[in-house]
Amino acid sequence: MVSFENTEIAFRDKSGNKLRKAYWLFRMVGSPLLVKTGSGLLKAALWMRLPVNWALKPTVFSHFCGGETIADCQPTIRQLGESNVLTILDYSAEGKSREEDFDHTRDQILATIDKAAEERHIPYAVFKPTGMASFELLAKVQSGAALNAAEEKAFERAKSRFDRVCAYGVSKGVPVMIDSEESWIQDVADGIVEEMMFRYNAEGPMIFNTLQMYRHDRLAYLEDFFRRARKKGIYAAFKLVRGAYMEKERERAARMNYPSPIYPDKDATDKAFDDAAELCVRNLDAGAVCVGTHNEHSCTRVVELMKQLDIAPGHKDVSFAQLLGMSDHISYNLANGGYQVCKYVPYGPVRTVVPYLIRRAEENTSVAGRLPGSCT
Ligand SMILES: Cc1cc2nc3c(=O)[nH]c(=O)nc-3n(C[C@H](O)[C@H](O)[C@H](O)COP(=O)(O)OP(=O)(O)OC[C@H]3O[C@@H](n4cnc5c(N)ncnc54)[C@H](O)[C@@H]3O)c2cc1C
Repeated sequence: MVSFENTEIAFRDKSGNKLRKAYWLFRMVGSPLLVKTGSGLLKAALWMRLPVNWALKPTVFSHFCGGETIADCQPTIRQLGESNVLTILDYSAEGKSREEDFDHTRDQILATIDKAAEERHIPYAVFKPTGMASFELLAKVQSGAALNAAEEKAFERAKSRFDRVCAYGVSKGVPVMIDSEESWIQDVADGIVEEMMFRYNAEGPMIFNTLQMYRHDRLAYLEDFFRRARKKGIYAAFKLVRGAYMEKERERAARMNYPSPIYPDKDATDKAFDDAAELCVRNLDAGAVCVGTHNEHSCTRVVELMKQLDIAPGHKDVSFAQLLGMSDHISYNLANGGYQVCKYVPYGPVRTVVPYLIRRAEENTSVAGRLPGSCT
């Protein structure tokens, strides 16, 4: 059985300097007050167009990101690969709203597919729905409000960006994962991703949707999808995560007076996540799963289930994924046990990666015992 206690395996490719830096970084993001103040100052600095690279690049950016370009990420890809940890290049420019930005993001994702096709340590490509279309447009489509002619065209362009990326991934033999976002745009994103899955998953699991298991409707969605996929003879491929927008979701539901889509407590989310993982692992004849979590218990459950069902650790249709700079003790120990493990390696211009970095800092205020720092 894999143990996550082995810190020698987890941190053997990190220098003392790097570990010390990580220790201080996590000490800092461990303070909710500091993170709140720092995030506020950062957002203000960006708004005022003040330079931020000098402060971010040597600190949080270098810890959580591979660099500003695909080429910058090469040393990270190599270093992870030496420990059999695979890379998913994640172009993390967020909050864009112009058509040329969406075209640029699409082109970046196509470039990550090219990179994956030539690099054995990169098994998947990934993108976010709001990398291909404006948040406001997706929200408007989901709200059911009528689109004007320009919006109709923009929506058509967005769908064709999804299709271009998915078709290119399939042509290069690189499966594509699509991240999930806020529930008030997610139905529209799911609709487009489902279309891609039904179009491209006949021969194998090439297009993965992401399910946020903090949503109380996702387990039923997953069960229903498997039924529909089996009927149509396509593969049901999913990345499972707990979900990153809990507070925003609850706050909006309370403000707009509709029932929160999120489970009332963490235990319920944990159970749904583990049930979804089990359902996927028990249905590998018709699907594939990427278990995206830093939760040791959830990883252990999947490992145990695979053993119980006699599924080889390196089975091509079960992978685990963590974010770069987090939970190396899980990634490296799973990889050492022969499991397929990936790290999301975000990259992009420093300013555009800030929303991602703020989410990581906020997430890590509540993280304990998972970091290099906690082991030194
Ligand atoms: C490889 C990878 C890809 C990811 N992709 C996405 C993505 O596409 N979309 C996305 O939204 N997120 C994504 N995430 C982030 C993910 O959703 C979680 O925010 C993050 O991983 C923390 O959850 P955990 O399972 O790792 O850890 P844990 O610490 O076990 O769980 C924390 C999570 O539990 C849930 N939770 C916490 N408290 C409560 C509560 N009181 N009630 C109900 N639920 C609660 C929340 O979702 C919280 O984020 C990704 C994460 C990884 C590792």
